[in-house]
Amino acid sequence: MLRRLALLTLSLSLAGLLAGCGLFERPQRPAWRSAADKACMARKTVAASAYVQLASAIDGPGICGLEQPLKVTALADATVTLNSTNTLNCPMTEAMEEWLRDVVQPIAMARFGQPVAQIDSMGAYSCRPIDNQRGNRLSEHSFGNAVDVGGFRLADGRAITVVKGWTRGNDQEKAFLREVQAGACNIFTTVLAPGSDPFHYNHIHLDLAMHGQTSDGPRRICKPLPSPQLMPAPKKRDMLPPAPEIEDDIDIAQAGGLPSRNAMAMGSLNFGLPPAPPPRANASPIQSAALAPPTPAAAPIAASVAGPPTALAPLSRAPAPPTPLPPSRPPGFARSERPMPPGDITGSIGARR
Ligand SMILES: [Zn+2]
Repeated sequence: MLRRLALLTLSLSLAGLLAGCGLFERPQRPAWRSAADKACMARKTVAASAYVQLASAIDGPGICGLEQPLKVTALADATVTLNSTNTLNCPMTEAMEEWLRDVVQPIAMARFGQPVAQIDSMGAYSCRPIDNQRGNRLSEHSFGNAVDVGGFRLADGRAITVVKGWTRGNDQEKAFLREVQAGACNIFTTVLAPGSDPFHYNHIHLDLAMHGQTSDGPRRICKPLPSPQLMPAPKKRDMLPPAPEIEDDIDIAQAGGLPSRNAMAMGSLNFGLPPAPPPRANASPIQSAALAPPTPAAAPIAASVAGPPTALAPLSRAPAPPTPLPPSRPPGFARSERPMPPGDITGSIGARR
């Protein structure tokens, strides 16, 4: 009996030792992902419906997957459809709802006198390494924590695509896309639009990656850096080091080839936005864009002109009018419940790793 006990103890300690050495360890998905997912589900800001269906956990290959996938086909109480079923985690679904309600729709009303009725997504969940290169870190898409927005459809059916609208759209389309990008930078932790790198010429990548914390919220990466008029008021400086350059995934953007140099330059061009047209008689009362007021006195954010302003130069003569922040958020959405208060926005045009 004693001998059996001794053997058992020995084998148990041996197993513990081996596990400690990592021999039996399987790579684990970082714990913060599950915690963020659970916290989001507990907030009940995202409810299961005919348009947001609970799916079974996705586990692997590798650490890809998510505990509570949501199959999302529409947002905003089904008033905004998605062009395809997007598999997303709860935090991304919640953030998309917030972006639509507080940023996209008010800007669409101000610029076009009508709401967005559809978001054309170019991809959500997808297990793949960054740049599709073996050995690279996994993309946030691998955890259902990212969406690629290729464009929008307005209520009257008009399409506004990122690939055309960002550089070749009319003034209102260009302004709309830049404003929704700038607003996204306050909600998501990574926002990559045309001009950020050669791979995002045709969509805006949105994700909730963890880039670390600053003294006033999560560190955010926002490229190209929006015009100072569109940026939120600067926060007090922290003493933390700058956010790292991220290695973003190749995404589907690469399939269509690379954008022209001019398109890249325009992506980061810091031009004035045209004023919104006067509201229509039948327009909804929501008019002002949900963006921070301009702060002309303090302009600590460096301009991010990466190339010579050429094709769109005439646009810069019309400065955007002030777009005051709505006095308060709509009832029913308590921002303070979210784990991510608006933090400082780190943006730069840097070399891609
Ligand atoms: Zn993406």
